[in-house]
Amino acid sequence: MPELPEVEHVVRALRGAITGRRIVTTELRLARIAPDASAAQFRRKLRGALIKNVSRRGKYILIELDNDRVLLTHLRMTGKFVSLTIDQILPSHAHVVFYLDDDRRLVFCDMRQFGRMIVVAKSKLATTRQLSELAPEPLSDDFSLEYLRAILARSHRSLKQLLLDQTKVLGLGNIYAAEALFLARISPFAVASKVSKQRALRLHEAIRKILSEAIEGGSTLRIDLQEETSSYIGTSERFWRVYEREGEPCVRCGTRIRRTVQGGRSTYFCSRCQRT
Ligand SMILES: [Zn+2]
Repeated sequence: MPELPEVEHVVRALRGAITGRRIVTTELRLARIAPDASAAQFRRKLRGALIKNVSRRGKYILIELDNDRVLLTHLRMTGKFVSLTIDQILPSHAHVVFYLDDDRRLVFCDMRQFGRMIVVAKSKLATTRQLSELAPEPLSDDFSLEYLRAILARSHRSLKQLLLDQTKVLGLGNIYAAEALFLARISPFAVASKVSKQRALRLHEAIRKILSEAIEGGSTLRIDLQEETSSYIGTSERFWRVYEREGEPCVRCGTRIRRTVQGGRSTYFCSRCQRT
């Protein structure tokens, strides 16, 4: 599943590929991808629109149009975009096809079919349910230490579970939550409200560092929209400090990394570096 850094890479690839293009027509081939509109409505809302920019809010991809509408896309588990010429064969699981004015097609493929698209009026973007609930962008000034401390103070959940709640802290999925907690040297089982000021500071720094590293730093992630098999799938090649390293030595102290199930998801941690 793509996490925020992977979605940011998709956004950057899309921005380069489709900004300035016009949507000639759209073919919604699987209704459940855009449940708020019929195929005809979906086509009508997008027809002739010029793509002004591609941006991101949380894991939502925002394709901004010149008709005062925005196409929101969430990739969920397996959604991905590919860019094809007119005569290339459609890949399997191609559920939405956007015909662009440069004789290319932007194709949304999704094997598991959990990906979603919705067209919203630009004026209603901020109040759209999917976006209005989200916590501040983790790399923006709004995600301050004060903000994080206030969120921690109000929660009696375990830190790991709190960090996965996108309405409280945005941008950490199962991988980056484990990595951030390891970097901050805090146990995933610590109760949020009991985290000290010093640890909250370390956590705040760790969250930003982990996400910036994944977005900017030496990532093996490469997204080529013209390469069907590429997309964000390169993620697993990356080196994780604790994630999926059960039984391997901790990079800091050599203790074996442990895995346990927390809230139905795997949690990886070093029992020595990350004491409660
Ligand atoms: Zn350790």
